[in-house]
Amino acid sequence: MILAGDVGGTKCNLALFTEKRGTLTPVFRQRFASKEFAQFERIVKEFSRQAAEHLGKERIIAAGFGIAGPVINGSVRATNLPWIVDTASLIKELNVPHVVLLNDLGATGHSIEHLPPEDFCVLNPGKPEPGGTRALLAAGTGLGQSILVWDGGRYRVVPSEGGHSDFAPHTEQQIELLRFMRRRYPQVSWELILSGRGFRTLHEFLAPKVTHATFEDPDADPAPEITRRGLDKSCRVCSDTLDLWTAIYGAEAGNLALKVLPFSTPSRTSGNSKASSAISPSPSSSTNPPRSSEPPTKP
Ligand SMILES: [Zn+2]
Repeated sequence: MILAGDVGGTKCNLALFTEKRGTLTPVFRQRFASKEFAQFERIVKEFSRQAAEHLGKERIIAAGFGIAGPVINGSVRATNLPWIVDTASLIKELNVPHVVLLNDLGATGHSIEHLPPEDFCVLNPGKPEPGGTRALLAAGTGLGQSILVWDGGRYRVVPSEGGHSDFAPHTEQQIELLRFMRRRYPQVSWELILSGRGFRTLHEFLAPKVTHATFEDPDADPAPEITRRGLDKSCRVCSDTLDLWTAIYGAEAGNLALKVLPFSTPSRTSGNSKASSAISPSPSSSTNPPRSSEPPTKP
């Protein structure tokens, strides 16, 4: 049995799989709210308790976790969470000899080759180059980015913390947005916009006096409400927020494409979307960034 986990700033998805001839079949899965646990080991402990009946006489022989943050020497200080996740303590907690920690976008990068075609949505058709470099970006609690390089036999995944690089405004409105955000943050990164929390920031930038119920509740996440109201058009500011957010997402996809020349389709994933979406590279993306043709779901 193999234990796999996607460890995010908002939620952790853990699952047990059986493996036969390279094919994984899920046996038991569970979702946990990350902020309800002081340490990741406690989630693993609770999962192990719940999973015991599904294990039967079998044992977990290996475990792997994708975590938001840079993994250095088997340890990672989780981004957007007060956790340090460490391979040695997980080996001890799980009593499993093989535990691997990966940057979350690194883990997503490894999954690309295993996803069936129906898990992809082509936004802009292009002509992929066999063995071409791939770029991956995914907005969730943060903004993950990674690069996939063909080594002649398979894709190697290069993780990155590119989401923390400086936001570059693209229009007069976005220059105003940068000024607005500089009053709140010492450094305005792409991630501050292209993440769940960015929705409220953009809404407040566009119309400071228009607020919604989730804005008042410190425990609520305004992103799903803004997305819902934007899609059902019950709030004009929410619709404009989605448009601005999506345009900035497209611009950063274009920037990433320019940096790595991903002629084998850069991919975009969303935190709660099952689908990855491929965006074809555009040589003129600095002036005409590829735009996502679908509205963002709750990151
Ligand atoms: Zn609104």
